[in-house]
Amino acid sequence: MIIIMLGAPASGKGSVAGVLSERYNIPSISTGDIFRKNISEGTELGILANTYMTKGELVPDDVTVDMIVSRLEDPDVENGLILDGFPRTVYQAEKLDEILEEKGKKIDVVVNLESVEEELLTRIVNRRVCSNCKATYNTVLQPPAIDGICDKCGGELIQRDDDTLEKAVNRIQVYKTQTAPVADYYEKTGVLFTTLLSERANRMKNEVANDVVEYLNNK
Ligand code: ADP
Ligand code: ZN
Repeated sequence: MIIIMLGAPASGKGSVAGVLSERYNIPSISTGDIFRKNISEGTELGILANTYMTKGELVPDDVTVDMIVSRLEDPDVENGLILDGFPRTVYQAEKLDEILEEKGKKIDVVVNLESVEEELLTRIVNRRVCSNCKATYNTVLQPPAIDGICDKCGGELIQRDDDTLEKAVNRIQVYKTQTAPVADYYEKTGVLFTTLLSERANRMKNEVANDVVEYLNNK
């Protein structure tokens, strides 16, 4: 099972990926999380990625593709995987096709998460992440039981460096110009499943995940 999550920043990719990861018992791989781990460990990759991420720009394609190629060598992806945040450019999508073809694998579904634009900015600035287990919270929609503390592990909740209003506006712009065309790319191959996650429309992660499961069952 190979699932790709596509969507704007804070569209809910990670949350839906988490539900699907449990449902299918396959790992969810977030390129953003891998970059952030490298940044906190001060690796060469982290130092490089940070210069782009702090500006709300994409990390260069070749760097990102190399990182994914090496991650896909790990044995835990044998039975399937979810990619959360990759591909983010048409070039990355083409490279992924090459990589999967070499392995004799193919994508089952590309979940194209649509969202209401005004909700994105609010979600980004209200987002808090556990510094320990990476669980995400929303100070308004999904606050932790104790302010600033992770319900799951007791870790400290922090705000990501790029989750400020100014950087969020730039990230949404980058999404529109560089990532939105990836949906058109997959539309042509017939694996695109477009769905909406919206507070206003009362469509949250579990409903979205259920629809993805139904799509996969009916394929
Ligand atoms: P969000 O979806 O909220 O923007 P992510 O954690 O997916 O958060 O990504 C954070 C940042 O990591 C991006 O703004 C970008 O700088 C970098 N990044 C993540 N995935 C990719 C990718 N596939 N290609 C290039 N840069 C990426
Ligand atoms: Zn935690």
